[in-house]
Amino acid sequence: MSTFFLKVLPIGIATDEVESLLSFLFRLASANGVTLIQLVELARRARLHSATGEHCSKPQRAFDLRAQLSAVEALSGNKDLARLTYLPLSADNGAATGRSLRDIRAWCEQCFVEDHRVGRQPFDRLIWSARFMMRCPFHKVLLRTTCPICMDPQPVRGKRNVFSTHGVDRCVYCASSLVGPTRLLRPEFRPFFGEIEVQELVGAISTGDLTSTGARCLATFYQSLDGSSRLREEMESDLLPDVAHSCLPTIANVVATACKYQVSAVSLILTPELAAEQVNRFFFDSHFVPGRARIKSEALLLQSIRTTLEAGMHSPPEHPIPTLAQVGALFAMRNLNFVSSFPVLAEKYLERTRWQAARVLDCGLG
Ligand SMILES: [Zn+2]
Ligand SMILES: [Zn+2]
Repeated sequence: MSTFFLKVLPIGIATDEVESLLSFLFRLASANGVTLIQLVELARRARLHSATGEHCSKPQRAFDLRAQLSAVEALSGNKDLARLTYLPLSADNGAATGRSLRDIRAWCEQCFVEDHRVGRQPFDRLIWSARFMMRCPFHKVLLRTTCPICMDPQPVRGKRNVFSTHGVDRCVYCASSLVGPTRLLRPEFRPFFGEIEVQELVGAISTGDLTSTGARCLATFYQSLDGSSRLREEMESDLLPDVAHSCLPTIANVVATACKYQVSAVSLILTPELAAEQVNRFFFDSHFVPGRARIKSEALLLQSIRTTLEAGMHSPPEHPIPTLAQVGALFAMRNLNFVSSFPVLAEKYLERTRWQAARVLDCGLG
């Protein structure tokens, strides 16, 4: 369909930095001298108009995101706008992506600074709206969620405008820049739980590799695991209680499963049998060898760590045991919090290593 609209292209398509749909719509609206709300209304009317004579019997109340998308696609002359959304992750059975997405905006100040530096219109990145993203994967600083001047959180949806008319890098309430002083930036060099997986998913959506999520992909993955009795036991264990209770492919479940079994999140969705096969290959011929973590399943790894700690607790007093830091390093666990994984055991173990340290110190001094 030809369109009288001035064409605007989404930024960062086919990269992890892809623009969010709302940001694109905002720029499209501003370029055409209308507000975002007017733009959506125009698209809705255009769609109603083109639908007349076909299936008029159904009331148009269910103006869902997919319908909205195709309307805007027609109006703006762009295709593939689903690549600017998490829609490809909402499973066919309608498993919600909602809880995995933020209720307020989050953004990386450094990304906005960079937009200005390269002379690009600042844009909102799709990846920022996933709850798992605590820091910018590109600049390694914590994302910001409040205006630096009025301290108000910024909305992600609502009846009024989501972005300031002055730009997506401006506060919607006070119009100040959303970039605060550089000295207040909080660097964070370790990725948070789920960050790598969400980045992978957004990348695959943005390139068009991931266009839809089968409702049964996680179920297929779990069913294709060998030794499923052992794994099922593990899934129901108290180690990772929130991981396995459901096979619904919500973003949270896909991310948690990918982390737990150390497989690619995209392959869990697109090729669940292959992903399971990859786990099976590691699972059966793996024996627990400290320092050589061949065990790919995180739950098994935790189990092995627990066994090691218990063995340490029961070794004779004169036998030196590794400190908690050394145990963590032994298993190459990047960021293990012993106290939250094994509260009582970790406390006792720490006591024993403290006592051991005191004894060594005594001997050294004496
Ligand atoms: Zn950034
Ligand atoms: Zn403000």
